[in-house]
Amino acid sequence: APAGAALDDEAVALDRAHVFHSWSAQGAVAPFVVAGGSGSTVWDHAGRRYLDFSSQLVNTNIGHQHPRVVEAIRAQAAELTTVAPATANLARGRAARAVLGHAPDRFAKVFFTNGGADANENAIRMARLHTGRDKVVSHYRSYHGNTGAAVVATGDWRRVPNEYARGHVHVFGPYLYRSEFWATTPQEECERALTHLERVIQCEGPSSVAAILLESVPGTAGVLVPPPGYLAGVRAIADRYGIVLILDEVMAGFGRTGSWFAFDQHDVVPDLVTFAKGVNSGYVPAGGVLVSEEILATFDERVFPGGLTYSGHPLAMAAVVASVAAMEDEGVVENAAAIGTDVLGPALTALAEAQPLVGEVRGTGVFWALELVADRGTRTPVGADVMGPLKAACLRRGLLPFLAENRVHVVPPCVVTPAQAEEGVALLAEALAEVAPA
Ligand code: PLP
Repeated sequence: APAGAALDDEAVALDRAHVFHSWSAQGAVAPFVVAGGSGSTVWDHAGRRYLDFSSQLVNTNIGHQHPRVVEAIRAQAAELTTVAPATANLARGRAARAVLGHAPDRFAKVFFTNGGADANENAIRMARLHTGRDKVVSHYRSYHGNTGAAVVATGDWRRVPNEYARGHVHVFGPYLYRSEFWATTPQEECERALTHLERVIQCEGPSSVAAILLESVPGTAGVLVPPPGYLAGVRAIADRYGIVLILDEVMAGFGRTGSWFAFDQHDVVPDLVTFAKGVNSGYVPAGGVLVSEEILATFDERVFPGGLTYSGHPLAMAAVVASVAAMEDEGVVENAAAIGTDVLGPALTALAEAQPLVGEVRGTGVFWALELVADRGTRTPVGADVMGPLKAACLRRGLLPFLAENRVHVVPPCVVTPAQAEEGVALLAEALAEVAPA
């Protein structure tokens, strides 16, 4: 439709002229137009449709434009669009109750934020005040957000140009495919990563360490599902030295791994949990910190020196309430688990067997990564010469992929149907075959 194509052109032209993009050299941005969406599909103004295997930034767990969530935002907008954080508001209280309803009993309150970075920022603040200590230990292979302490807790390259916050220490977490520990089994990787973590804490001085902050399943770093026992081992180390354990569930939480929280699958209960993204699928920005009873007690008499104008914003809270309710009523988390076990796991494993570019497949639920290598023996990562054409080959086939470094992250909404999951993997297989060296 020519009218639609003109709107796409206008969107691209306005973007190029006036929008400053995240994590980009501005001259190199090549915008992809999204005009609308429904469930696991998005489209541009011209009507080209794409199966969304990215969930945007891994946040539309409930899919695009879920009618119940859209209607809840509409109803809240008609009633009250904004309110000060110090007020009592029904939407906020109900949202807190809804989120806590899926958390272990020790969590009693929620501090709401605007997103994931400020959730981690405030969790770190709570841990420091609670312990009277300063240092935060996190993984090199991690992403925790782009604000002061969150970006320095981040382990990947984005930390380095932003190192203005003090007291951050990094360790290597388990990643058997590229082991830092010469491990050959998940058990060895787990034991050696735990020994390394504990040795670093001992060398830093355990009485100076406030928190261990980890993604339950490191996401952007490559969907690095921890080996059995790792998170429980971290919990034991935290307990041994009186350190607060913060688990970042911003990407992994709310169904992504096939459970409400990813740590549910790892026999561990942290002291603080940070969340955002899937809590309301990003329909209105929201995040937060789940606070355990012990840490709450610290702030009974003592002022918590942190806050946000939009903490518990009513539109975001209405979206949380409706989103959690829809996920409960429609078995969205169960669907994510079944898609992982019945469709994505087997289909991606079969793809890897047939396609030599794939060095490893790993994941759970609707949270998977394919690691692409030039050579399976040396495990040398493929470069931009493969990933650029791969992206184009996916888009040409109507598949919106999530690519990071040498990896394809297979991260559709938790509501993806078995047929859509199969179709997406088939399109990905075709695209990989097109770019694979002859
Ligand atoms: N933590 C994790 C694990 C994330 O994946 C992200 C974003 O991708 C963040 C924190 C930061 O969240 P936000 O971009 O909402 O600040």
